[in-house]
Parts: sequence; structure tokens; C-alpha cells
Amino acid sequence: MEFSSGRARLKLARQSGARREQYPHSLQFYREPPTENISLAEFESFAVDRLRLLKVVENLGVSYVRTSEFYKTKLEAELRKLKFPYKALAEEDYEARRKDHISHFILRLAYCQSEELRRWFLQQEMDLLRYRFNELTDVLRQKFLEHVNLSFEAISEDVKNELADELCASTPGFTMTKVREQTYYKVGLVDAVDLFRARRVFIKDGFAYVPLKDIDAIVLSNYRASLSKALAMTARSLPSIQSDERLRPLLNHLSHSYVGPDYSVQKNTGKISLEQIDALSAKSFPLCMRQLHKALRDNHHLRHGGRMQYGLFLKGIGLTLEQALEFWKKEFIRGKVDADKFDKGYAYSIRHSYGKEGRRTDYTPYSCMKIITSNPPSQGDYHGCPFRHCDPELLKQKLQSYKTPSSGISQILELVKGMHFQLACQKYFELTHEVDDIGFSLNHPNQYFTESQRLLSGGRELKKELGNSGSSQQKSHSQESMTSSSAPTASNTAADAELEGLEAYFTED
Ligand code: SF4
Repeated sequence: MEFSSGRARLKLARQSGARREQYPHSLQFYREPPTENISLAEFESFAVDRLRLLKVVENLGVSYVRTSEFYKTKLEAELRKLKFPYKALAEEDYEARRKDHISHFILRLAYCQSEELRRWFLQQEMDLLRYRFNELTDVLRQKFLEHVNLSFEAISEDVKNELADELCASTPGFTMTKVREQTYYKVGLVDAVDLFRARRVFIKDGFAYVPLKDIDAIVLSNYRASLSKALAMTARSLPSIQSDERLRPLLNHLSHSYVGPDYSVQKNTGKISLEQIDALSAKSFPLCMRQLHKALRDNHHLRHGGRMQYGLFLKGIGLTLEQALEFWKKEFIRGKVDADKFDKGYAYSIRHSYGKEGRRTDYTPYSCMKIITSNPPSQGDYHGCPFRHCDPELLKQKLQSYKTPSSGISQILELVKGMHFQLACQKYFELTHEVDDIGFSLNHPNQYFTESQRLLSGGRELKKELGNSGSSQQKSHSQESMTSSSAPTASNTAADAELEGLEAYFTED
């Protein structure tokens, strides 16, 4: 026993020695991909945790000033909770550094697949690095700069004293005392082009004299350039990675992933009557579903993309199979579809989506990520996310017709312009529910509905009705015991194929 615990200790010591060597700094530029073998479970959990973190980064980044105490406190709490390196002086966090390294590369694979995903990933990773770099002490910052070969030359005290007046005049907010305290670096103009453009740096003989506090701009522009290049290169090698059948569904799920409940099991199933749907659509549906409901009522028909998105949402808010059949049939037979055609075609696909036909997969409603990033609507379609897919002028009209206050509309349009579609939707929620702060991070249309109902009913009804969770878009019966921390799982491979099957049933217009 003692022998084996001694060996275990030795193994651990060797392992931590190797980690120390591999991760000499708590901050990384992620230049070298990980080479070790990891289990599929670790792969998934690392990736989901980083995605959670990046979503928090996004949320905080548009809601608070990045240098504010609130922003820093919240982000540190999240890093600490998810076990990523979270403070400058944490010296024994090698496991956290490993997780940081590996998870970054996994998401790089998942988020290199389209221009939109790449842009989102790059932005959040930049914000994360900025925060973490600024949290470093001067000594650690210097160590990091050397570590990533950005070892700019610190000027001597004599040179600094000689240039003190110029340095003070050209560094906004600096007094002479500050200049004396701060280390200045002599940096080639190419590296300091942003500071030069913003007239925030002293230039002499082709060199910029940058105070330590501004060196983050240079670090970030280096990081952006190398990460953009790396993402483009990863995208090129994607076909060979995607040929791995275990990885492909995982990566696809991650890029569409919703890290929260999957709204598959409802305690409120059957508690909503069909007569309530019109009123609920005005009060508690997110814009995407409100638009689909209106189109269905107006045209007595929805094309397959709309039926998939809206049908699964309705299932998620609690419509039973019988109700769904009645709801769709009543509406469709008011249009061009007769009852017989409905029973033979559409009814089968509805039963299928409830897991009563085919391979009996119990499909879950689409997350915002999936709606935003896949299957964009074309002419005659009403599915998708209006914040992502609507022309801004049309979106404005839509919001005006729903009596959204005009000051709020411009805020929403600003967020849309910055490609923060879910945050625009959060703003819409705040405006339509007259709350100052939504108090949650919106990721799912069904989450919108649940939170709206909770708010409107004073927290009495529908609260926490969503007992089961996970992050996949669909879940087979065999997966129903998954816990709330479940990540997308390898079993989604089969489920992915199933979804394609279901989509085929819905392809008839
Ligand atoms: Fe729907 Fe999500 Fe878009 Fe809101 S952000 S409209 S919930 S897809």
C-alpha cells in the first residue's frame, strides 16, 4: 500500500514537473497545439466550460466597461468557478493552465468553420486575454512578454529622464511622477501602429516609447494577428479532422451549442391550452417565435424550416403530442392542405418529433446558437433569428409595430450592428417586460419563454419547470438520465443522423 502510494506520489511529482515545464506562465498565446491523449469525456467538459466562459465574456463585454470593478469581479468569479487560471499570482495552477490550453484548441476547431464563428471566437478570446494580461503584476507581465517573444527593450533611467518632458506630454493622463514610476519600452513602429494612430505615444527615430500600461494594445494586436491566421489554417485542415466520426458531431454541437437546459422534459407539459397560444405569443414568445406564430396564423402554413423551429419550441413550452397535432392541423386545413394530406404527411412528422415514430428520438428545441448559425431563411421562410437574419430597417419596423420604445429600438439596432444578436434579444426582453436588468444570460428561445412567464406570474408558476438538461439539440430515450452538467455527448452522433432524418420528413413545403 505504502509502496503504491509512494509510486503514485512520484508519478504525480513527475507529472507536475512536466506541466511546470510545459506551462511556465499562467497566460498563453496558444501557439503550440496540445499533443497528449485525452479522454472524450475530458474533451467535452473542457470545451463546454470554455464556451461557458466565453459567453460570460461576451455578455459582460457589452454590458459593462471592461476596466470597471464589476466587470473584473464577475469575470474573476467565473474563471474561478470554471477552474481556469484566474489570478496573476496563482503559481500552482498547472492543471488550470492545461485546461486553458486544451480547451482553447478544441474551440478553435469548432469555431473555425465559418467567418461568423471565427469572428465571435476571436473577439471573446481577445477580451479574455486583455483582462488576464491586465491582471498580471509588472514582473509577471514582463515574464510573459519574454515568454511570447515580445521582449521589447526597456529604456534606461538615463534615457527616460532625458525624454521625460516628451513622454509626459504624449502619454494621456500621465503626470511627471507617473512617468518616473512607469517602465517605458522602445518598440518598433510597426508594433505600435494603433497607439501611433490614436496619438497616444511618443515617437522618435522610428521607435515608439510605450509605457507598460499601454503595452496591452501591442500584445493584443499580436495575438489577434496570430489567432486569425491560426483560425484560417485550422479551417483549411478541417476536412481531415471532420473525417473522425467521434469528433465531427462533437465539434458541430459545440459550434451550435447551448450550455444550459435542453428543454426536453417539461413539468408543464399539457398545462398550456391551445387557446392561450395567441396571447402567450404576444407576451412571452421571443421575437423569432412571435414572427413564426404570426406567419402561421396569417398564411395557414409554414415551410419546413419554420415548422421545425416553431414545432419544437411549442413542444418545449409544454404542448402535448395531441395538442400539437390539433394545433397544426387546424391551421393547415384553413390553407391549402386538406385533412387527408395532413394526416398522411404532416401528422407523421409531428409524431416523429415527439419520439413516437422512426427511431423514437425525443427531439429538443433549438438553441439560439443553432438558430443563428445554421440554415438561414430564404425568400418565403419565417424561421431564423430576426436579430440575425432580418434587414435592420425591417427589424426596426417590426419592433415599432410591437410598440417597443424608440430609445430601446436604437439600442437594439446598435447591438445588432455589433453582431450581439442574443444581447439584442435580451434588450428586447428588458423593454417588453419593463425590467432594467434581465438577470440571466439568454441562450435559448424556451429559456426566454420560461423567464418571461416566471416574471409575469411573479415567480409562482412555471418556475424551474425544466427539470432535465444537457446541451444537445435532441436526446434519445436512453439518454434521459443525463444530469444538469451534461455536455454534448458522443451519443449525439446517432442523434445527429436522426435529426437529418427528421428534417427529411419535414422537407415537403
Ligand atoms: Fe430567438 Fe434566440 Fe434570436 Fe432571441 S436571440 S430571437 S430567442 S433565436
